Amino acid sequence: MAYRSKKVLITGGAGFIGSHLAEKLLQSGEEVFVIDNLSTGSLKNIKHLRKNKKFHFIKGTVLNKKKVANLVKKVDQIYHLAAAVGVKTIIDKPLESFLLNLKGTEIVLENAAKYKVPLLITSTSEVYGKNNKLPFKEEDDRIYGSAYNSRWGYGLSKGSDEFLALAYHREKDLSVVITRLFNVIGPRQTGSYGMVVPRFIQQCLAGKPITIYGTGNQTRCFAFIDDVVLALISLMSNPKAVGKIFNLGSDKEITIKNLAKIVKRLTKSKSQITFVPYNKVYGQGFEDMAHRRPDLTKIRKLIGYKVNISLKEAIKKIIRYLNSSVN
Ligand code: UDP
Repeated sequence: MAYRSKKVLITGGAGFIGSHLAEKLLQSGEEVFVIDNLSTGSLKNIKHLRKNKKFHFIKGTVLNKKKVANLVKKVDQIYHLAAAVGVKTIIDKPLESFLLNLKGTEIVLENAAKYKVPLLITSTSEVYGKNNKLPFKEEDDRIYGSAYNSRWGYGLSKGSDEFLALAYHREKDLSVVITRLFNVIGPRQTGSYGMVVPRFIQQCLAGKPITIYGTGNQTRCFAFIDDVVLALISLMSNPKAVGKIFNLGSDKEITIKNLAKIVKRLTKSKSQITFVPYNKVYGQGFEDMAHRRPDLTKIRKLIGYKVNISLKEAIKKIIRYLNSSVN
């Protein structure tokens, strides 16, 4: 029997992760609808997809109820990625970010439940807040700092989205999967919203100082986009994932100081490694997470998730991308 392609909606599909997901789904023969307000996403990210007849781009925000309803009505699956992105965005625009994450998700959930369309939501490792019990397991407590500190608004808003999604699952029978992404990196990610890997690479390529915030002893685990996209698609197609939360990323920790050294070496850069106090970048009272590492047992068990691309390979790929694109 001929394969009937699915109609898939990606909110935030012109962003870094969304555009890679759209690309992969199109490669698999699916028809892809992207809604994006191009606030942090960009047309450049999806330019190469627009010649594909099965790709449809709709400029708009997920806060537009009518637009969302019209799209949800005609698709078989939804990946909800539209959200305020990056620590810098949250600090610079707390109100807009908080409202977008809460209201936007509510509108998408409400319509998905109404039209009975299965949905995957990308949440974030930020929801663990400043819990320092590593590695983070999906069932662990979430610990947030003061409401005066905008950073926590991000984790709090995404955490509320998770509650909302699970409530729709329990009470309205919505088929929903929640993934918590841990520091995803790859081509098309921009350093403009604070993300450390593209920032360090761009600094090195431009021969500018590498800016380590704080001591550089804080650690993160970086996952390459291709591994993450495959896992998102696999979770979406697995009935056993419904109603559950999954950590997704890499569990190999690295200090930001070592990251700077690796990027400097791989770019063969003469850039100087410098240390910048947090308050110079994010203002007084900023709190960073010292360490962040996911427990990946749950996703490994369900879909056989594996990290295929190492951090070094990932950085090399991003360097090649940044060297070849006119940014
Ligand atoms: N960071 C840094 N220099 C930069 C940008 C970020 O040292 O130019 C640090 C940041 O303070 C954090 C880590 O790198 O400790 C990861 O930051 P990012 O914004 O990429 O992701 P986060 O894990 O904070 O969401």
